[in-house]
This record gives sequence, C-alpha cells and structure tokens, in this order.
Amino acid sequence: MLNIDLHCHSTVSDGVLTPAQLVERAFQRGVKILALTDHDDIAGLEEASMAAFEKNITFINGVEISVSWRGRTIHVLGLNVDPNFQPLVGGLAAIRAGRIQRARNIAAALEKAGIEGSLEGAYAFVGVRGLIGRTHFARFLIEKGYAKDMKSVFKKYLVKGKPGYAHHEWAALSEVIEWITGSGGRAVIAHPARYNLGKNVLNDLFDEFSALGGGALEVISASHTPQQVEIFAEHARKHDFLVSCGSDFHGPGESYYDLGQLPKLPVGCVPVWHDWKVPQNV
Ligand code: AMP
Ligand code: MN
Ligand code: MN
Ligand code: MN
Repeated sequence: MLNIDLHCHSTVSDGVLTPAQLVERAFQRGVKILALTDHDDIAGLEEASMAAFEKNITFINGVEISVSWRGRTIHVLGLNVDPNFQPLVGGLAAIRAGRIQRARNIAAALEKAGIEGSLEGAYAFVGVRGLIGRTHFARFLIEKGYAKDMKSVFKKYLVKGKPGYAHHEWAALSEVIEWITGSGGRAVIAHPARYNLGKNVLNDLFDEFSALGGGALEVISASHTPQQVEIFAEHARKHDFLVSCGSDFHGPGESYYDLGQLPKLPVGCVPVWHDWKVPQNV
C-alpha cells in the first residue's frame, strides 16, 4: 500500500519540527508522498522539498489557509500550489499580518481573565520564521499549568465563550479558492467534521465550495472517527469531490495521528492525487 500524507505542520506555523526534521520523520515512517501544509504560509516548502528529494519522497507543495465563512472559521488546503504565484503570496502575507493583531487581542482577553504575559509567552514558542497562532498560546498555557495537554487546553481556553477567545476575520472562501486554483493547485476542505455543521449548512458549504471551483474533501483525518470517515466519503461521492487524506501532524505527543500510515480511502472515492504525476499503486 502506498503511504501518503497530505496534511502536516512544521515550525513555519504551529508544528514543533522544522521542515527538514518533519521530512526525516516522514521518511522513517515510510511515507512515499508528502505534502507540507503549514497554516497561511509557504515558507517551509523549499527546505521540505529539498529534504524530500534526498529521501526519494515525492513532495507536494501545500498550504492550509484560514477562511471565514458565514462567521465561522473553515480551513482550506491548497495542494500542488505554485509558491511563486503572486496573488497567493500576497494573500497569505495579509492573513499573517492579521494574525499579529489577533495575537494581541488574545493576550488582552487572557489578561482580562487574570493571565499575564501570554503574548511574550506565546511568542517564545514561535519558530524563527514562524507565524503566531492559538497553538502557541496553548503551549504557553500548558507550560504555566493552566491545562495538562493540547486537548484539554482547547476545552477551557481560546475558544468561543472561554477566556482568551478573540473573534477574527480571515480571508473569504472565494478569494482563497482563486489563489489556490489560479496557481494551478487543488482546493480541499480540511477536516470537515471539525466544524460541527448541521446537515443543511454543510450542504450549503459544499455547494458553494464546488461552485467556486473547489474540488476535494479531506475524508481521512486524525480529527475524524471511522464513522465520520464514512459520512464524509458519502458527501464526497454525492458532490463529486475528490478525496484527500492527511494526519494533521503537529508534533510528537501533540497529535492523534503520527505522520503517514493512515487508513485506506473508503471504496468508491477518487483520490485527490489520481491525476498527479506520482506513484499510483494504492
Ligand atoms: P489558529 O489557526 O491560530 O486559530 O489555530 C488553530 C490550531 O489550533 C489548529 O490548527 C490546531 O493546531 C490547534 N487546535 C485548535 N483546536 C484544537 C483542539 N481542540 N485540540 C488540539 N488542537 C487544536
Ligand atoms: Mn495547527
Ligand atoms: Mn486545520
Ligand atoms: Mn492542519
């Protein structure tokens, strides 16, 4: 079976391994096709791609873009994007600038709840070339003993209705799909089960995504139970979406799934990589 993983993070966003370390771990775990998909940044692609070349891993340029849709945050993966496509480069830079202001807002919200020093504390976890996100605040809160691990910190903090929540407007779905498809890439809705959307809203999202040129759904994800995999496989078949799979690995001990070795795609699903120049022996 082909070992393929099309969703993971490095120190360029909120992962704990550098792009080269991530590729090394993927290699150790038998991954043959790998996409690096940092949040809102493509700065790790060159390093990862060179490391992958040395290990004979087929590397896919990827990114996970933060989108606001109907007041909710949705993550859209761009796979096979061109990292030199200017609308994509500029769009991502604007999102990262927004993250800096949002981090100040998160820190102010935590301060209101009596938690001081979180901005500096969160930045201490950001990589040299890295952007700031909630995961960095989460690591700070764990370090200070406010929660025991990643899972529990996001139950008590940083989410709507809890201390440290700051509303934020990300990019629009339409523009994000344009950046991705305009650069020759394929837009994929990441971990669809994570948004807790009702059936009708979910269908609206899929219809709109499809009409805008989005073409794939991440059916295999660490965020999905086996039952949810089947549910979203059915959605993919119904909406004619290609199907993607990714661990969403962030670091040892922080993720449900390690790199690669994901479950097989459900029957009747067309893999997102079916027309790529990559090994097809799944
Ligand atoms: P941001 O894009 O800055 O809002 O941060 C989103 C990131 O926070 C996700 O990509 C995950 O890495 C992390 N995250 C959000 N919710 C959870 C959760 N319930 N458990 C673990 N990590 C989470
Ligand atoms: Mn993340
Ligand atoms: Mn995500
Ligand atoms: Mn992710």
